[in-house]
Amino acid sequence: MDLQVLVQAFDKLESITSRTQMTLILVDLFRKTPASIIDKVVYLIQGKLWPDWKGLPELGVGEKFLVKAIAKATRVKESEVERLYKKFGDLGRAAEFLKQREAGGAGLMKFMAPTEALKKRLSVEGVYETLVKVALATGEGSRDIKIGLIAGLLAEATPLEARYLMRFIEGRLRLGIGDATIMDALAITFAGSQSYRPLIERAYNIRADLANIAKVVAERGIKAIEGIKPEVGIPIRPMLAERLSDPSEILSKVGGKALIEYKYDGERAQIHKRGDEVWIFSRRLENITHQYPDVAEMTRQYLTSSETIVEGEVVAIDPDTGEMKPFQELMHRKRKHDIHEALKEYPVAVFLFDVLYNEGEDLTFKPIAERREVLYKIVRESERFRIAEHMITDSPEELEKFFLRAIEDGAEGVMVKALHKQAIYQAGARGWLWIKYKRDYKSEMTDTVDLVVIGAFAGRGKRAGKYGALLVAAYDPSTDMFRSVCKVGSGFTDEDLEKLNDIISPYIIQYKHPRVDSLMKPDVWVSPALVAEIIGAELTLSPIHTCCRDLVKKGAGISIRFPRFIRWRDDKGPEDATTVDELLEMYKRQLRRVEEARPSAI
Ligand code: ATP
Repeated sequence: MDLQVLVQAFDKLESITSRTQMTLILVDLFRKTPASIIDKVVYLIQGKLWPDWKGLPELGVGEKFLVKAIAKATRVKESEVERLYKKFGDLGRAAEFLKQREAGGAGLMKFMAPTEALKKRLSVEGVYETLVKVALATGEGSRDIKIGLIAGLLAEATPLEARYLMRFIEGRLRLGIGDATIMDALAITFAGSQSYRPLIERAYNIRADLANIAKVVAERGIKAIEGIKPEVGIPIRPMLAERLSDPSEILSKVGGKALIEYKYDGERAQIHKRGDEVWIFSRRLENITHQYPDVAEMTRQYLTSSETIVEGEVVAIDPDTGEMKPFQELMHRKRKHDIHEALKEYPVAVFLFDVLYNEGEDLTFKPIAERREVLYKIVRESERFRIAEHMITDSPEELEKFFLRAIEDGAEGVMVKALHKQAIYQAGARGWLWIKYKRDYKSEMTDTVDLVVIGAFAGRGKRAGKYGALLVAAYDPSTDMFRSVCKVGSGFTDEDLEKLNDIISPYIIQYKHPRVDSLMKPDVWVSPALVAEIIGAELTLSPIHTCCRDLVKKGAGISIRFPRFIRWRDDKGPEDATTVDELLEMYKRQLRRVEEARPSAI
């Protein structure tokens, strides 16, 4: 197709603001476009060469290069191009002006050099191909190659083509055409009516590549997208959740019984697998595969299907304890340039929560219970690649308990998912089939506490064969008991860990000490004697720990989220440790601080 057809449409689009008129101009353009290149035309309208999720380089040609290319193609000095650029404020206009001037001159010269007038016309296909070369040229000499290719295009362009070529290459096309207008135009062109737009939209939601959808309808008709399936390698637009904060209301909203899962605080990952090939897409559909070679490897190892699309959350973890780390840890990893170093320093785990496509079958229309069955079948769970922590319940109390456990374990809250037959995967939509239940406050632990060791856990990873975490308790003077507060596995230096066995061994006992109150069972019990200084992200309520149990909330005690060991307090005996009353006071103070920080309800 002649490039002129495309730029004339661009020219018309630029001068109007009515969406209806824009749609009609696009319809006219699509009718003139051969089906085989409609995908390229859609990308060009969107101002790109390929969808963002491909992770391919953008054109990224700077102003300076373009000035050189224009000067070269129109045989004027760079300073002249710069002067015109200043005058018009737009390199597109500058190039157009120069081409017009040239054409005026060429008009006079026509009689002398007739070949000038018979110059080859630019085609959309040819231009697209050249622009791809420009985008992909890298390394030494690529700068001159880019300038040469662009100058070559400009030399053959009409003035109008020059205007849009420059703007496109500079990334400033800005036609103001959104996806919705393109979808309307596709519906009218290929189905005869805008009423087909939802069908196109549904297809777009499961294959987030509008150009690909355009090609399917142009080549095979609107019917072809009725049964369109997800395609491995093309991201599906994610299903999103609504938010509520009352457990009873949440459960009644999803129809009573629900699947409750931890809402992990990491990065969403849509993982595609075909054979040994793996793609990972973010929530915003960027291709993040290169950031997670470890996740890709685990996918190959633990996903048994040959062709599948699953979703999960990637979370930073402590490899020695398996505990989750705060979201910021994942961000540290993303900021590191050397990916191999990053994955050693910041290991991650993947918690899967859905499967959308498997072995040729589109599962997005299937209710969640069926999707889960498939998920269980295709995942060989391992420590760092497993299905999200979950339960099924219709009880608000159970939901609340699970929520507290989730927070204590380092999750952000829970996701409550409808379990009824209509609970499909609503690609690209935020709806009431998924409801997130998060805390509506964020607080900080401002002071350290001194807690007594009452148990220890065997280490994993590089701590294998040694102790890797401690169970610690606060002192309750009124009953002379030690009540559990948290399990702490972070903050130890290598030297601390080296010495841990020697420090604990003398106090290991075969039974729970009679002065210890704990529902959590460590690998070994320890007689209350050693005191450790601990800090955490915040104090939190816990269904497992016994410190201040039932005092703030029925069935819950006070615990510490993301606890870290600071040092041993050899100068303190167990009865000198922080008391349960002090922890209760600290918790109340923390609540007051949160209340004060909350904007007034009026
Ligand atoms: P938020 O800021 O709360 O993450 P959001 O707008 O990014 O909001 P929401 O739909 O509100 O997205 O929340 C869903 C997000 O929660 C998902 O994008 C996903 O990253 C994350 N998530 C963590 N655990 C789960 C889970 N078990 N099921 C679904 N999503 C989960």
